[in-house]
Amino acid sequence: MANTILFMEDIFVTFDGFKALNKLNFSVDYGELRCVIGPNGAGKTTLLDVVTGKIRPDSGSVIFKETTHLDRMEQEEIANAGIGRKFQTPTIYENLTVRDNLELSAKQDKTVKSMLFGGMSGSLGAKVNETIEIIGLAGKQSWRAGLLAHGEKQWLEIGMVVVQDPDLLLVDEPVAGMTESETENTADLLKHIAEERSVLVIEHDMNFVREIAKRVTVLHEGAVICEGSIDYVHADAQVIELYLGRG
Ligand code: ADP
Ligand code: MG
Repeated sequence: MANTILFMEDIFVTFDGFKALNKLNFSVDYGELRCVIGPNGAGKTTLLDVVTGKIRPDSGSVIFKETTHLDRMEQEEIANAGIGRKFQTPTIYENLTVRDNLELSAKQDKTVKSMLFGGMSGSLGAKVNETIEIIGLAGKQSWRAGLLAHGEKQWLEIGMVVVQDPDLLLVDEPVAGMTESETENTADLLKHIAEERSVLVIEHDMNFVREIAKRVTVLHEGAVICEGSIDYVHADAQVIELYLGRG
């Protein structure tokens, strides 16, 4: 487990008797960019909800960095432990500038790391500058966020999580509703972000998944049914039948 940043073992989550996660076993390595795919209702978002503490599993363990038991922690503690999540629905402040959105988010970072090295002064500005560059919005930092295009808003939101410097970034369907060129930029962005941290992406767009992931996990009815390279997963008979075959 020494190489494992996130380890989930025998996770069960039940909603009114329905098993959304059904003995899920799943792990992510340090420095990995992993994609999770699977049909609607497979349990992908529930998986993220369990990691972030939004949902507590009925049973099973979720371990971060070998020793931190997330399944016993509150959402805020989990965020402070170094797990950041970009939600599907927008959470930016439309009336504030791009830069203000990032600064606000950076100031909410209460991790020990930021208290030791960050403070509230010069390095916060430097961190915001660096993040604006990474998300490609340097030229629009004084724009009102509400004026950004759909794709740009998504990048800003990714930036608002990245500026808090999580060790594991969770992203749910980042390219939904994006144009082809926005999707390509998002692939580059996530690959860049993954150079310094672990990233877990849930996504339907198979071209996008092919572009970014070395390893892909296929979820079906709350459990992992296949895991490997995109080519390996694409050639799996069960995956073709249950998921890919539907076009
Ligand atoms: P996915 O993200 O893979 O599409 P979800 O994790 O959102 O799937 O949902 C898995 C299953 O659990 C679905 O059948 C969904 O309807 C159900 N579910 C998810 N959240 C809840 C909830 N809060 N209450 C009841 N059922 C839920
Ligand atoms: Mg979902």
